[in-house]
Amino acid sequence: MDEEEFDYEKLLNTAYESLPETVKSGERFEIPKVDVINEGKTTIIRNFIDVCEKIRRDPKDVLKYLLKELGTAGDIEGRRAVFKSKISEASIQSRFNSYVETYVICSECGRPDTELIRKDRILMLKCDACGAIRPVTVRKVQAVRPKAAVVEGGVYDVVIQSVGRRGDGIARIDKFVIYVKGVSKKGTKVKVKIDKINGTNAFGHVVF
Ligand SMILES: [Zn+2]
Repeated sequence: MDEEEFDYEKLLNTAYESLPETVKSGERFEIPKVDVINEGKTTIIRNFIDVCEKIRRDPKDVLKYLLKELGTAGDIEGRRAVFKSKISEASIQSRFNSYVETYVICSECGRPDTELIRKDRILMLKCDACGAIRPVTVRKVQAVRPKAAVVEGGVYDVVIQSVGRRGDGIARIDKFVIYVKGVSKKGTKVKVKIDKINGTNAFGHVVF
């Protein structure tokens, strides 16, 4: 290997090493996983500082967000975060994911190599990978309308709990009262097909 070639390779290596991890691998950024343990009435993220370093955000900011979202009190202790209530790992991970999606990931290129900057008092996310700048928009949590438990045409297994004045069997699924035609014996297990729903009243007939 001659001198010139060696230098060129060295140069390439240096350039490559200075790239952020995610650009090197070319893979989609994976949100770091929190490592959570419950101790009595407290909850500890054991790798809190580590995950904050991976997303390159101030642990204090991340903690503030998590406390607000989880509705709890807590603090950073060493490299861990300690919450003063019992919270599942899944709940913490999902809030952490939201933080990363809102405050870290570039919406243009999907990379996490971004920084938060303030422009005219507006918090902006600036992407070092693609150069995009966007205001940080904190998504409002949409009130999700629960899917109806009972639908017209649906078939459900029910137990007749009582008998109505007109001789129909009455069963319940969630908030729905199911009137089943022609079943007048309490305790009977039937498969009912719903013909009509009116508010939280459902009317159906037995199917086999
Ligand atoms: Zn980008």
